[in-house]
Amino acid sequence: MVRALLVLPPLPQPMNAPYLGQQYIAAALLAAGHTVHCLDLANLSETQAAARLDDQVRAFRPDLVGMTLFTYNALAGYRLTETLAATGALLIAGGPHPTILPDEPLAHGFDLSLSGEGEHAITAVADTLEKGGDFTAIPGLHSRAGRGPPNAAIEDLDALPFPHLAAATVRLDAVAGGILTSRGCPARCTFCANYVTGRAYRWRSPENVVAEMRTLRRDFGLSHFPFWDDAFTARRPRLEALCDAILDEPELAGVTWTCITPGNMVLPRDLERMRKAGCVAINFGIESGDATILRAIQKGQTPEKILAAVQAAKAADMTTIVNFMFGFPGEGPEELANTHALMRRLAPITDFFNNFGVLVPFPGTAIYDRYHAEYGFSGWWLDPDRIPSAPAADLGRDPALEKNFFSYDPHVRDRIADLVRWKADHNAAWANRQAAANETIHVTRRIA
Ligand code: SF4
Repeated sequence: MVRALLVLPPLPQPMNAPYLGQQYIAAALLAAGHTVHCLDLANLSETQAAARLDDQVRAFRPDLVGMTLFTYNALAGYRLTETLAATGALLIAGGPHPTILPDEPLAHGFDLSLSGEGEHAITAVADTLEKGGDFTAIPGLHSRAGRGPPNAAIEDLDALPFPHLAAATVRLDAVAGGILTSRGCPARCTFCANYVTGRAYRWRSPENVVAEMRTLRRDFGLSHFPFWDDAFTARRPRLEALCDAILDEPELAGVTWTCITPGNMVLPRDLERMRKAGCVAINFGIESGDATILRAIQKGQTPEKILAAVQAAKAADMTTIVNFMFGFPGEGPEELANTHALMRRLAPITDFFNNFGVLVPFPGTAIYDRYHAEYGFSGWWLDPDRIPSAPAADLGRDPALEKNFFSYDPHVRDRIADLVRWKADHNAAWANRQAAANETIHVTRRIA
């Protein structure tokens, strides 16, 4: 039995719920018979985080420390390895950042680095640590001694232990509050950093999802479930089957849920069934109102299709959340004007626009590969001055715009700032109306 400590290093953007990915990893280790502690340091300063980690390591004495690294907190994670260096624990990095740059953590204090989904690999690492063996035989594992075979996407998602079982066992403050009914996204957006679950779309059986919802309702008293899938509506037959299964389960009577999906993957005729099954809000990925930009970023949708989908959601009495991004290469005043025009057409049927939205070039994306040398932002995540900082209390100011990754023309930069402000003003007006009407706000969280 291995003692595993799972750590989420500080993030510059606050996280409003425990991290679901960490709970999946914890549940897998627990199911394999190992002992697990979780340490969520996302919302602490680096100094506070190092102190908490030091306390935890002294109390728990882990054999293995697994750290989740996003691009935004990779540097913070590397700094935390200094706190861990003398413990003798095996240090392994996993998550989106090591998936795309597996060698980088090895140069910053980690013994192992994992590329891809972690549930099978982390249990193999713990088993190998306990019984002996070769880490480099484990799919997805990288070490200074070599690397394992490629880490194939997990096909049998029903076989994974429910993540909230970890919350119950290791007494986390709360369950993550969200559910993944599928993994992966079939789209190919050039700015998207969803590397861990990748492009292969896989889904759980409706029975398995309903069983998780039933347990969350019974054991944790939950009756509202945000589905955090990247592309919830990507496969119509499975969407219909899941809606029917929720409707057919007496223990889920009256539950509500929210989902996230690209604007082109939801068909207006499905929305009534979704609403009947409890869907109260949809978070649409739209990104641009300009046809040239939509083609350039491979979003695969048109402004008219977007409008039809949001209209249908509103007609089905759902809360509508709409995501726009700004600052794509090649986006000038004319393209931004087209985006603003679509935002204005959507405003009467949109409850809430995403906050901020200025493009950040994440490593591994087509946009990063194409432009990092030209604009001089190679490896920006290793420079603390280039990491977009915590958002200001003023939601009309995007920290990513201040980093100016694409050296915007001052006129374009001002125009982008106007659009960020425009969304913030719309959202403030909507929130005031909701408060006045004393209504519940159902907003899903979007993980980029
Ligand atoms: S941005 Fe959304 S739709 Fe595009 S590839 Fe990523 S998850 Fe899929």
